[in-house]
Amino acid sequence: MTFGVALNHPATKQRNWQPIVQEFVKELGDNQVVCRKEELLVYECDGLTSYRQRPAVVVLPRTTEEVAAAVKICDRNQVPFVTRGAGTGLSGGALPIEDSVLIVTACMRQILDIDYDNQRVVVQPGVINNWVTQAVSGAGFYYAPDPSSQSVCSIGGNIAENSGGVHCLKYGVTTNHVLGLKLVLPNGDIVEVGGMPELPGYDLTGVFVGSEGTLGIATEITLRILKSPESAQTLLADFNNVEAAGKSVSDIISAGIIPAGMEMMDNFSINAVEEVVALDCYPRDATAILLVEVDGSPADVEASAQKVQEIMRQNGARQVTIATTPEKRLRLWKGRKAAFAAMGKLSPDYYVQDGVIPRAQLPHVLNEIEALGKKYGYRIANVFHAGDGNLHPLILYNNAVPGQLETVETLGGEILKLCVDAGGSISGEHGIGADKRCYMPQMFTPADLDTMQWVRQAINTQGLANPTKLFPTPKTCGEAAVTPIKQFDTVERF
Ligand SMILES: Cc1cc2nc3c(=O)[nH]c(=O)nc-3n(C[C@H](O)[C@H](O)[C@H](O)COP(=O)(O)OP(=O)(O)OC[C@H]3O[C@@H](n4cnc5c(N)ncnc54)[C@H](O)[C@@H]3O)c2cc1C
Repeated sequence: MTFGVALNHPATKQRNWQPIVQEFVKELGDNQVVCRKEELLVYECDGLTSYRQRPAVVVLPRTTEEVAAAVKICDRNQVPFVTRGAGTGLSGGALPIEDSVLIVTACMRQILDIDYDNQRVVVQPGVINNWVTQAVSGAGFYYAPDPSSQSVCSIGGNIAENSGGVHCLKYGVTTNHVLGLKLVLPNGDIVEVGGMPELPGYDLTGVFVGSEGTLGIATEITLRILKSPESAQTLLADFNNVEAAGKSVSDIISAGIIPAGMEMMDNFSINAVEEVVALDCYPRDATAILLVEVDGSPADVEASAQKVQEIMRQNGARQVTIATTPEKRLRLWKGRKAAFAAMGKLSPDYYVQDGVIPRAQLPHVLNEIEALGKKYGYRIANVFHAGDGNLHPLILYNNAVPGQLETVETLGGEILKLCVDAGGSISGEHGIGADKRCYMPQMFTPADLDTMQWVRQAINTQGLANPTKLFPTPKTCGEAAVTPIKQFDTVERF
């Protein structure tokens, strides 16, 4: 193992990394420790590519024990660490911080147990989301949370972000499908939480899900799997105006129908997808399309599809197409799942926001977003989980033009404020990470933030696990940070 190149970068000047790297090599072996400058480059950002920071060292454990050994080395040497799954996060959660160790779960990719009788699987955190469904589909089961990134994102990342997806409207987001966790705490201790259906005491599984790597590392995850629905139909409706599509969403839910998924795309997104995936199934002249999937018993599906169709037509849908076979349904969904990636066709860069609003506010908020786009002079594409009111405005810009990123971030902040003012939230599924920590005081009172910080500090006592993420600090957010608890000093150091 040579350290020369890696140890020259600025972060490493503050600390003598050589003995620390030797400790990692001793515990994990030479080929599970990365510290060459050019190799570290791969890990300098997640899906939020506008933030970049090279870690000092990357370690690639294979087992819970190796994770615990790596964390203990960090704890002993007072080194901050950041966990990374597949690095597809969109809020900078897996962004390394200066002078830190990145613990990457990419070598922890085993499905450890499948228990059909109890409808559960146990996986390592680096397992890719859709591998779970692939592993159990032959027996008629599936894993419900399906982020659009499901072919690349890891279950560990899904747990940490409490990820959502197209089919989470009816079945719930990740937290509703996690039964138990084996965790390595920030001091290196190994604990197990959950695991049984009804456990007395605190719901520590619930506390960990969505904690964005600030409470330790999940190393074994017990997931609930569901029986595949007997029948499903997907309806595609196109509209001349966004209000009509938005009203259809509220009317469908008000009619007592909970679709498995209900997604909306605007004209920008439709055309981007048609250019890239060449599906030839989304009408390019539509102002908005709605994709609605209903599932269940054949009789229920037939009745629900009929009712959904009626509601959409009453609201002015121009055409409604119904896909009943798995192949045709997949074809309709393919465009939606490729929508973010397709934006590359329209613009060199895009900044994706992730806010939530009450469903009934959809038409009003979408109009306001359009007005904000005009005010700032940027195109904004909208593709989102309409049924959950989870918006994903994609602001198109060019990072090569000085000043555009800053303006786009300000515009993104205004969109989040709009969501909060409408009674919603600053994140539906992408998490807070480094990107949105300064907006936390817009949603939470100082007492709310205090309570969350007490939990963080009780478990992450030295502040070494993913410091600076999730919460505002004076160093990262200036006056936006409300930091009434004195014990922040450990977090503040980084
Ligand atoms: C094209 C595209 C589409 C997307 N669509 C969706 C979508 O539909 N729904 C959605 O919710 N998200 C979506 N995302 C965002 C992203 O894929 C999810 O947040 C995903 O859960 C991140 O998983 P990851 O393995 O890439 O995690 P990473 O990005 O590596 O990490 C994310 C966070 O999890 C922490 N972490 C990772 N592993 C562990 C672990 N084992 N223990 C503790 N903490 C850990 C990290 O520290 C970080 O804070 C999309 C992203 C892209 C690029």
